[in-house]
Amino acid sequence: MRVGIFGGTFDPVHLGHMIIAEQVMEEMRLEKVLFVPGGIPPHKAASSVRASAENRCGMVHAAVGKNEFFEVDRIEIDAGRAMHTVETVPLLKEKHPDNDWFFITGADEVSNLLTWKEPDRLLEEVVMVAATRPGSDLSKLDHLEAGLRNFDRIFPVECSRVDISATGIRRRILQGKSIRYMVPEGVYEIIKEKKLYIGDLRRNDDKVERGARLKERST
Ligand code: ATP
Repeated sequence: MRVGIFGGTFDPVHLGHMIIAEQVMEEMRLEKVLFVPGGIPPHKAASSVRASAENRCGMVHAAVGKNEFFEVDRIEIDAGRAMHTVETVPLLKEKHPDNDWFFITGADEVSNLLTWKEPDRLLEEVVMVAATRPGSDLSKLDHLEAGLRNFDRIFPVECSRVDISATGIRRRILQGKSIRYMVPEGVYEIIKEKKLYIGDLRRNDDKVERGARLKERST
């Protein structure tokens, strides 16, 4: 079976993600796409990730919904630590050794491939599919050719350009603007119900904890 792995922070998952998963699946004739939300992404400062791993994973489940070709894998969430793609991919392959494996990324991420851990070894494990994203056209991958032995394992795919990013969504929420239709309906409902991305929740949690400790000491 031809399987695509789609790793990301998904903070939150949005229509840009869903559209590239669908279009890469079609172009590369994949039979399944595994969404793999990162528990603690190694390339992002822990403080820059806003929603908890469970909430991000729950939103990816909601986005995938009843699509029989999409699945969610909790491998990185359950590890509870930062995992590099080169570490995750062999673990996924071990579970299903007979598959042909692809890794789906936006062209912006692929253009930073030289900063990833062991990119050439990763390219031995998977074909890397680089999907176009506004501001990152595929010509921006030229510099990788000189730096990678396995450059020919990177496969560009022209996708519909969707100018949506998780950062932009979080910013709109902070500004009190609507994000409806930028994310799948189920994800919108979760964000609304759990009041995600409104202010710095982590700091609020800390405050509550500190308050409880002070109260304990004074009693
Ligand atoms: P942030 O704005 O927080 O950096 P993001 O929107 O880039 O987040 P990630 O979860 O970091 O989302 O992205 C996972 C993968 O999806 C990355 O490879 C990224 O390049 C790709 N991606 C995200 N949004 C788009 C988009 N609108 N079009 C194409 N690719 C995208």
